[in-house]
Amino acid sequence: MTETTKKQRLTILGATGSIGLSTLDVVSRHPERFEILALTAHTRINELARLCITHRPRYAVVASDQDARVLSGELRAAGLNTEILTGTRGLEQVAALGEADTVMAAIVGAAGLTPTLAAVRAGKRVLLANKEALVMAGALFMAEVRRAGAVLLPIDSEHNAVFQSLPADYAGSFEASGVRRILLTASGGPFRTTPLEQLAQVTPQQACAHPNWVMGRKISVDSATMMNKGLEVIEAHWLFNVPAERIEVVIHPQSIVHSLVEYADGSVLAQLGNPDMRTPIAHALAYPQRIEAGVAPLDLFAAGQLNFERPDEQRFPCLALAYRALRAAGSAPALLNAANEVAVAAFLAGRLPFLRIAEVIAAVLDRFPVVALPDIDAVMAVNAQARAAAEVIVVNWQDRQDRQ
Ligand code: NAD
Ligand code: MG
Repeated sequence: MTETTKKQRLTILGATGSIGLSTLDVVSRHPERFEILALTAHTRINELARLCITHRPRYAVVASDQDARVLSGELRAAGLNTEILTGTRGLEQVAALGEADTVMAAIVGAAGLTPTLAAVRAGKRVLLANKEALVMAGALFMAEVRRAGAVLLPIDSEHNAVFQSLPADYAGSFEASGVRRILLTASGGPFRTTPLEQLAQVTPQQACAHPNWVMGRKISVDSATMMNKGLEVIEAHWLFNVPAERIEVVIHPQSIVHSLVEYADGSVLAQLGNPDMRTPIAHALAYPQRIEAGVAPLDLFAAGQLNFERPDEQRFPCLALAYRALRAAGSAPALLNAANEVAVAAFLAGRLPFLRIAEVIAAVLDRFPVVALPDIDAVMAVNAQARAAAEVIVVNWQDRQDRQ
């Protein structure tokens, strides 16, 4: 086999999630191109066992020894001798394996930071879905990408669209490339037109019922508050080295235009397609080639209209909080992310009303001074502090409710 036909060996962090499963779907369509080296999961061990039996990875990672025993039993029964690793160390190990060419970083939240960074430090081709990693530690993360010579390809549909709409040789200098603005599109989520007075009562189930995309629960709630777009503004800042004032959010309810780049000469380039994550995943997996992704062709006649609106700041306060954190720089985005993760988890657990999510985040941003983050330990310390503070705010709110 020649070098050009060598199979790409893939580690998927977060294989049982929405992005992980979509990645495996694309990979399955091209067995001549890809080989699964490692799969990881945090819960749903039976699902991971099923994926291992189908894709026969050399390694699998689970959270605990107990989970490892369960998985091991299922895999032995199926005649597999997959090596099973555990915990954060296990995740970091499979992210940095010598045999791995590509790592799909699709763990949700702060838990994805150190495994994703391990892949970056090992100089892998890193397919980044885990936006929280970049929000928490953008400067350090991008410095490691450059130092290690890792190749970072965005999976988030908006950033993948921007990547496709930038010059192929874009090297992080927007002025030299004649880029005037980045326009990130947002669907507006399930509550774009819900009367404001009804937002206080919305349930997790309603918040997770996204009109255009099927996603994990955390990002679904983030889409409903538009914190997802706020995190994406920060993500775009780091990926493309563009300042906050040149990144604008545009509500586009059909989710067909996935984002746009405006140039000095007035040209605006965009990437369009059906809302299906297999498109950006296939793009990044095969880059710079193009492969079949199982996605239905875009039917513009069926779509009929493409609409665009300005986001309503009153309805979506999280968006302004994210811009505030990006402008404050230093530890502020890590505070924002940590508070959001705690508030969203509390909302999903029925412990916090929807409208309090933004209040918890604002309170955490107000509470802590912005400090510089010299290393990942400092990032993790800020993350832990902010999470603890957000948890206290949630508990205090519950106590007040109980007394009323
Ligand atoms: P998901 O909840 O469906 O899956 C998350 C995956 O991470 C699962 O495999 C889970 O086992 C694993 N995981 C969760 N907590 C973990 C922990 N503490 N330690 C180790 N593993 C853990 O989430 P998703 O929707 O697939 O999103 C994954 C990431 O991709 C998120 O950062 C999200 O913002 C981003 N993203 C998702 C979509 C989408 O369409 N789903 C689109 C753009 C970006
Ligand atoms: Mg997105």
